[in-house]
Amino acid sequence: MHAYLEVLPPAHRYAFARLRLGGHGLGIELGRYESPQIPPEARYCRFCRSSRLVEDEVHILGQCYGSVELFEEREELVTALNVLDSAEIGRGCTLTTLQFVPVWDSLLNSQAPGVVELIGRYVYRCLKITHAKKWRPAH
Ligand SMILES: [Zn+2]
Repeated sequence: MHAYLEVLPPAHRYAFARLRLGGHGLGIELGRYESPQIPPEARYCRFCRSSRLVEDEVHILGQCYGSVELFEEREELVTALNVLDSAEIGRGCTLTTLQFVPVWDSLLNSQAPGVVELIGRYVYRCLKITHAKKWRPAH
């Protein structure tokens, strides 16, 4: 069993599960339901649409610079990860390393309770910020 099921409070657990299962309400998912369907490479981020960047999990969690709120959450996460004693993967995390898919694979799959707590809260907050602005397909 993944540690998030035991460690996280219900709201964070729900958000984390949604992210892992792909039912997160991000553009990469929502574009599939449009008619006609939007090609995956054209499901742009709601915050930085002019840059034509695909809104997927790693973009919102680690790469999006189109939202001040997301950026501030990311800065807070970096600081918190770096002061965790037990988190080998947290040490050395920077805003730059968080842009890479393998780093997120490690963070999202971590079983270390301290990391799970931080990531669960972070995912919850990022999805909340993202969902506050409606996603629309680009034309
Ligand atoms: Zn973005």
